[in-house]
Amino acid sequence: MTASRSQALFERASTLTPGGVNSPVRAFHSVGGTPRFMVRGEGPHLWDADGNRYVDLVASWGPMILGHAHPDVVSAVQKAASSGLSFGTPTEGEIELAAELIDRVEPVRQVRLVNSGTEATMSAIRLARGFTERRKVIKFAGCYHGHVDALLAQAGSGVATLGLPTSPGVTGAQAADTIVLPYNDIEAVRSAFAENEGEIACVITEAAAGNMGAVAPGPDFNASLREICDASGALLIMDEVMTGFRVSRAGWFGLERVRGDLYTFGKVMSGGLPAAAFGGRADVMARLAPSGPVYQAGTLSGNPVAVAAGLATLRAADTEVYAALDRNASRLGALFTSALTEAGVEHRVQFAGNLVSVFFGSSEVKDYAGAQACETWRFPPFFHALLERGVYAPPSAFEAWFVNAAMGEEEFAVIADALPFAARAAKEARQ
Ligand code: PLP
Repeated sequence: MTASRSQALFERASTLTPGGVNSPVRAFHSVGGTPRFMVRGEGPHLWDADGNRYVDLVASWGPMILGHAHPDVVSAVQKAASSGLSFGTPTEGEIELAAELIDRVEPVRQVRLVNSGTEATMSAIRLARGFTERRKVIKFAGCYHGHVDALLAQAGSGVATLGLPTSPGVTGAQAADTIVLPYNDIEAVRSAFAENEGEIACVITEAAAGNMGAVAPGPDFNASLREICDASGALLIMDEVMTGFRVSRAGWFGLERVRGDLYTFGKVMSGGLPAAAFGGRADVMARLAPSGPVYQAGTLSGNPVAVAAGLATLRAADTEVYAALDRNASRLGALFTSALTEAGVEHRVQFAGNLVSVFFGSSEVKDYAGAQACETWRFPPFFHALLERGVYAPPSAFEAWFVNAAMGEEEFAVIADALPFAARAAKEARQ
């Protein structure tokens, strides 16, 4: 499989953009080799600039639950675009998208549309601080909430991929009010609340962690967070940017009925265009400008084309789509297990709803320390053996794999044929 055109594009991109990419994990640093420049997506497939076709297991990092270029979404976008790209005024589509989100996630009574998941979490934290009049924020190691200064400490996703503890450029003052605790460790949360009595504005957690690989919350973890927050007057922010409208119609809330005070959404709700949202309790949202004093704004927020893509995606995501996502995730997990077992590679396949991950090693991964302790050096050859055989996996050992509802027999045959080679490559990997 040639990558010469991708290589030439990457070389040119690297002269114009740091690392040649607009988001770090895309650069393939942790797996090596040439990032593939994609030119087209349709259904479960992507095509790169050299004409190679891949079964896509990244789905634009989550949004594309229906597969690429779904006809309903494309025609909604075309229709919206032909009426004008942005007005900077309210539009009816924003009401409909807000209503759709509120209808699906019952604790959400009002929403505000923004442009990225990062903006959503940044704004939710500001609102939580404004509402509670407290400063401190608890987050969990290995959870990623976008590149918000205060939330980069021990973050998952690209920060984990690059092995960074946090980021230069984040000042002590910005990080000082962030308390980072191990995921799934409720005793650590209790102690932090005891040590910081009356000072904690909010706990922000991925409703189920997907940014250190798929790590589901333990059976009582989220419910205990709810109780602890209630007891102290802190808000619970459920970050559902990754899980929202993917793991069920109502996201993680559809699988575990623990109520957050605030929610953050992105990815699926924008159908692949830049849109995201935060929302929650009406009394908390009422503190947001212009109803209340906590400021938040955006030139392109509620952009009509992005709203149309999000609405069309959510409207097409019916029961059958969610059943297909679940089915495809279990099928992928079973294929991992059989190929890796056959090759004699110790591994754990983990699920958080229909997010899937494969960890190399024998222990169950419950937190970031566990994810970091895995034999991540087995991942690059595993990844490249798949890529060579037409399977586009996330280029990092710390990311979840994203299935889509357009995958069928043909795509699973490609994956099933490729996996034994990948499993053998993982077996032969040396540290
Ligand atoms: N929160 C979670 C759980 C995410 O997975 C992400 C992105 O992957 C974000 C927030 C940030 O979203 P964005 O990349 O749109 O800024």
